[in-house]
Formats: sequence, structure tokens, C-alpha cells
Amino acid sequence: MNAPLAIPCPHCSALNRVPAERLDQQPHCGRCHQPLFTGHPLALTTANFDAVAARGDLPVLVDFWATWCGPCIGFAPVFAAAAREFEPQLRLAKVDTDAQPALAQRFGIRSIPTLVLLRGGREIARQAGALNAGQLRQFVAQALH
Ligand code: ZN
Repeated sequence: MNAPLAIPCPHCSALNRVPAERLDQQPHCGRCHQPLFTGHPLALTTANFDAVAARGDLPVLVDFWATWCGPCIGFAPVFAAAAREFEPQLRLAKVDTDAQPALAQRFGIRSIPTLVLLRGGREIARQAGALNAGQLRQFVAQALH
């Protein structure tokens, strides 16, 4: 049996310990009892970023985007589908760079969309520009290999 994984709850930020073999069984938060994975990208803000994206054992793939950015809007369905595909091995999240300029600045985002893959809050890979589903899979596989 593997050591349990630390998974921050996207709803209440409680740090849950989930045995690896139970990850696929739709685990719920021990505190607020909501699902730890929803199959949808999580909206990150300065208020919840450190609690849910900068700690825990799962890598977090963040899509930095904005509502006026055409390529971002085009990429959104690909990213949403990837959330259903990659969870619970990976957490997918989005940062609206207009609403959250401090996060965009913290990661030095110069163009959007930009994907940043985090592990333990540290950046391990970055990709500027929209990807198709196959390219996104390849980016994640290479970054986590
Ligand atoms: Zn919770």
C-alpha cells in the first residue's frame, strides 16, 4: 500500500489524506463532505491559490487566460475536457489574469493563454499558446514523466 496523498479540498481548502488506491473512487472532503474532484477546472484567486494549488501531492496544471482573449476561449473546451480526463492524477485550474493580476504577475505571465504546471507550488513546466488535445496530453506526459 502506498502512502496517502495530501489533497487540498477545492471547496474549503482542508488538506485531506487520501490513500492512492482510493483516488479513483470519487473521494469526498473529510471536512465539508464535497467531492475533492469535480471534473471541472477550478477557478483560482489570490484568496485560494496557496491553499489549493501551492500544496498537496498532486501536480496542478494552471491555465492563465482572459475573457477577451480569442485563443483562450478557443482553448477552454480542450482544457475542460482535459479536467475530466486527467483528474484525479492531476488538478486542473484556471486563473483569469484580468481578475487576478497579482497571480499573473507572480508567475510572470507575458502572453495568454499560458499553461503552467506546478508541483508543490513550484513551476515544473510552462507552455505559451493554445494546444489541441493531443498536444496537451503530450505536454503533460513529458512534464511528468
Ligand atoms: Zn472541503
